Amino acid sequence: MTSFQYMPPLHKQSFKTGEVALVGAGPGDPDLLTLQAFRFIKQADVVIYDRLVSQEIMALLPSNCERIYVGKKQAAHRVPQENINKLLVEHAKLNKKVLRLKGGDPFIFGRGGEEAQFIISQGIACHIVPGITAASACTSYAGIPLTHRKVARSCTFITGNMQDNGALDLPWQTLNDPEQTVVFYMGIKSLPTITKQLINAGRCKNTPAALIRKGSHVDQQVVKGSLETLEALVTLHNIKPPSLIVIGNVINTFADVQLQNLGYLAPE
Ligand code: SAH
Repeated sequence: MTSFQYMPPLHKQSFKTGEVALVGAGPGDPDLLTLQAFRFIKQADVVIYDRLVSQEIMALLPSNCERIYVGKKQAAHRVPQENINKLLVEHAKLNKKVLRLKGGDPFIFGRGGEEAQFIISQGIACHIVPGITAASACTSYAGIPLTHRKVARSCTFITGNMQDNGALDLPWQTLNDPEQTVVFYMGIKSLPTITKQLINAGRCKNTPAALIRKGSHVDQQVVKGSLETLEALVTLHNIKPPSLIVIGNVINTFADVQLQNLGYLAPE
């Protein structure tokens, strides 16, 4: 058994030259940055960033900070992961404060673990700064609690990203509890498979389902339906990535009039 003694973690310490900080930028709204993320952003000499980092957050960087975009779109990987890893290390070896800025949380579908493994394998210090993940922020900004007493007692975050051969091989039988909220990241392309497989696995076709596009951004879109109707809604509203798919009865926690009172929906 391993036990750990408390020591101030690296992310609590100051950002020194020759180090990398792997920082979660949250879902887009700069209000959702942590103070810790803000501190690292303000000190960066160079930023290596993704498509999901918002313009408003990029605007917080020091004006002389060098900016390197390594974003990728689904199925069109722009910069291979290996090259990103090398880039991080190269810049750290040039004695810079290297900020690796990622959407949401670096350790949730963000390959943060892989990057940190490589960085430390090269003898370079790596600060890891958590961020608010899309599932948490987008549902909150849409007035949907992820768990709710007597409605949802668990919540699963799962990737809907297909394998290279187009297959989506997920443990469907573990997702069929009616009191479970399921949030799919990267699932828009595979939505028809997702809804079909969940129904096959035993989830009722009337289970509420929602799509949240660009959660927490000023142009956030929320579309609600059921497992059966969701696919048609994607086409109708032309929903594109980055979007989350949320499945479960929690979606109906608040009626529209309550969402208006809470300030989530504009009054008619
Ligand atoms: N590390 C990120 C997730 C990266 S995977 C996080 O913790 O949030 C990329 C997927 O995240 C997107 O395809 C989409 O499903 C989801 N996503 C990220 N930001 C989003 C946003 N603002 N609105 C909706 N979905 C978002």
